[in-house]
Amino acid sequence: MEQSHRRRFAAGELIFAEGDAPTTAFLVESGQVVVSTEQHGEARILGELGPGALVGEMAVLDDAPRSATARARSDCVLVVVDRSQFAERLAAADPVVRALLLGQLSRYRSALATLTGDEPTAAGPAVGDAAAFDKIRLESELRNALANGELDVRLQPIRHIASDTIAGYEALIRWQHPQRGQVSPNEFIRLAEETSLIVPVGEYVLGRVCDMLAELRRRGRSPLPFIALNVSARQIEDPRLVDRMLEQLAARDLPPDRLEVEITESLVLDSPEIAALIERCHAAGMEVALDDFGTGYSNLGPLLSLDFDRIKLDQSFVRALDRPRGVALVKAVLAMAEALGCEMIAEGVETEEQLHALGEMGCGYAQGWLIGRPVPLHEVVDG
Ligand code: C2E
Ligand code: CA
Ligand code: CA
Repeated sequence: MEQSHRRRFAAGELIFAEGDAPTTAFLVESGQVVVSTEQHGEARILGELGPGALVGEMAVLDDAPRSATARARSDCVLVVVDRSQFAERLAAADPVVRALLLGQLSRYRSALATLTGDEPTAAGPAVGDAAAFDKIRLESELRNALANGELDVRLQPIRHIASDTIAGYEALIRWQHPQRGQVSPNEFIRLAEETSLIVPVGEYVLGRVCDMLAELRRRGRSPLPFIALNVSARQIEDPRLVDRMLEQLAARDLPPDRLEVEITESLVLDSPEIAALIERCHAAGMEVALDDFGTGYSNLGPLLSLDFDRIKLDQSFVRALDRPRGVALVKAVLAMAEALGCEMIAEGVETEEQLHALGEMGCGYAQGWLIGRPVPLHEVVDG
């Protein structure tokens, strides 16, 4: 029985003609299709397509009239591909991928027009939309920033609540952009993570953090505070990540237990890799914190098998401490952390009330503007 999403064409039958408005594309299931265009009144064959090939997808992508004619060479069966199947995926794609595709398409159309002696079409929106343009530019600028020393690492203090002392710091990257001013890591870290650019960025932060630890030791800070380093998915994929950390520490004769690793909760779903990383860190004497707890998938499964030393409670929970439900939730998370043998760091502590409530509940550490903003190293050593 003929199904509506499949169409049969007899040998020689027209599938679509040059100039038609595009409604669908086709996937060749069986048989052969010939694609041709008219040149000086004669048909010029552009290609012959067999099973597995797409036909007529170009016009569907950029919504332009068909630039070629397709005809069945032999009896064939084609699967009808609705334009929305492409349009929705294209809209959801990375804007850079979309720009590359549409850019190539428009160039192909111009070349085709030249070949057939038609008026070459305007080159069209060569680099796609503004989002793609911004993204490509920002990424190139980030590469330069790395080379030009525009990236800077700040330290935000973490207080041990019971003893009222600064136990360590979290390293947070900053980009001082010559025109845009300070660009938030929320904006550029994600961008760097989409490509392998996060690897040299992470390497840079690691180097700076080790320099800072060495400087704190030189200044006689005792006990030497720890510095926590944020690591991204791509860095975790690198089997040499822990070796690199140990090399950088060893080059400055620093004890590995002063470097702590923070892994954001949303990455923890991929637990075999994380388990291996935690094991390697522990073998080297480094501790590992689960970052942004409560914001990811709230999947507690990974906690069963992953041996985190600390849990960092996301700031949204700290903000909720002014409500009974928030208090109840934080208490429950603290009880869970204790049962797992993990220490807890509350993030985003901005008020004395929050700090007091957390201390009362038995939370070990606090980080946030009340304790201190992220500052350059010289403010840590001189302050
Ligand atoms: P995060 O790891 O959750 O870092 C904590 C964020 O909360 C920081 O934002 C910090 O400045 C901010 N914060 C600290 N205390 C308070 C407070 O009391 N109130 C409020 N409202 N915010 C507070 P920041 O520095 O903008 O960093 C954003 C994110 O970028 C970080 O979130 C982290 O995921 C990522 N990031 C920063 N540096 C690095 C890095 O070197 N490597 C990687 N992979 N990611 C980084
Ligand atoms: Ca963090
Ligand atoms: Ca966090």
